[in-house]
Amino acid sequence: MTTNKHNWPDKDGFFGEYGGKFVPETLMHALEELEKTYNNFKDKPEFKEQFYKDLSEFVGRPSPLYFAERLTNHYGTGSIWLKREDLNHTGAHKINNTIGQILLAKYMGKERIIAETGAGQHGVATATVAARLGLECHIYMGAEDVQRQSLNVYRMKLLGAEVHSVESGSATLKDALNEALRDWVTNVDNTYYIIGSVTGPHPYPMIVRDFNSVVGEEVVAQSKDLFNDMPNAIVACVGGGSNAMGIFYPFIDIKETRLIGVEAGGEGVETGEHAAPLNDGTPGVLHGALSYLMQNDSGQVKATKSVSAGLDYPGVGPEHSLLKDSGRAEYVAVTDKAALKAFHEVSELEGIIPALETAHAFAYLDVLMKDFDSSANIIVNVSGRGDKDINTVAEIDGIKF
Ligand SMILES: *Cc1c(COP(=O)(O)O)cnc(C)c1O
Repeated sequence: MTTNKHNWPDKDGFFGEYGGKFVPETLMHALEELEKTYNNFKDKPEFKEQFYKDLSEFVGRPSPLYFAERLTNHYGTGSIWLKREDLNHTGAHKINNTIGQILLAKYMGKERIIAETGAGQHGVATATVAARLGLECHIYMGAEDVQRQSLNVYRMKLLGAEVHSVESGSATLKDALNEALRDWVTNVDNTYYIIGSVTGPHPYPMIVRDFNSVVGEEVVAQSKDLFNDMPNAIVACVGGGSNAMGIFYPFIDIKETRLIGVEAGGEGVETGEHAAPLNDGTPGVLHGALSYLMQNDSGQVKATKSVSAGLDYPGVGPEHSLLKDSGRAEYVAVTDKAALKAFHEVSELEGIIPALETAHAFAYLDVLMKDFDSSANIIVNVSGRGDKDINTVAEIDGIKF
């Protein structure tokens, strides 16, 4: 967990001009209470100790920084290293944040947990920590995603959570988020809302970033150990932006390291059929924060398109908008097609089936590796494993079971 080294977010929750708290009056008090509790809580030695103990004993941290030998040979330049968040308990980086937030919820005396989920990974990660502490758990999930990720839905149920299928709007992540916020407004007294990415109103983008920063902190230490230098580049996929923010954050002042976020290009950014707000969006308010957003001229949120449920979101965390404008991080997009190709390639070359989200980060290596000579060290954040995506990919490949 990182303590704030930068002058953002400010006291109103702004990262530069982005972020803030654009919520109904009824939630203002809850957000202020959360912020106050978090600020008191995060530097307490007993909390930090418990957080790192849980990450070690329950999640299996630290995750390895692993040399991808055949992928490296495939590109014939530089060394490619994989930060293995796919090896975490529940299969993705999302558990880092839920472990932290459930400790906060318990500390605040809340007995009911709610969350939204896209790919289902955050829902599983939340249901997992709620089960571990014996707390009632409700997960909101778009009906479309319930279809695409039926295995994760069953997994959440096995863990004792109630899954609410959301039919409104495009029936994906943004609609699930709306529904979760609605629940929170109604039940705020006994309910803790665990947001799953660096999105939503302040203080969530800060809290989720801090908990996921354990990933970047480990990478700083592992880079010193393994190649005695800082990496030349770190590549991570960006949906809401939590796996990217978690690995980027400790590197913001390490200027020699390029930080590259890869968005979902869907059919291609130029077609408008994508989920890449940092590449093709404008600042607007969604789910309580101002950030780059896919919206039309009258400010209505546009439909998104991505093969990957976890990246299928029209907004992005406000800190990424700041990093984009300042130029500290670069944001690119790759198409569904390129991501699927990478999904197969990495599986065959490395014996690691990556999540479809993560496959977007891998796909960008095709472009990126041309920038480097053989002395370079490039890190890919393997945000999660692909077991949950096998049905989706099989269907695209025309395979029936
Ligand atoms: C949820 C998810 C993502 C996208 O969310 P971020 O907040 O952008 O990290 C990426 N990869 C995996 C495996 C996920 O489960």
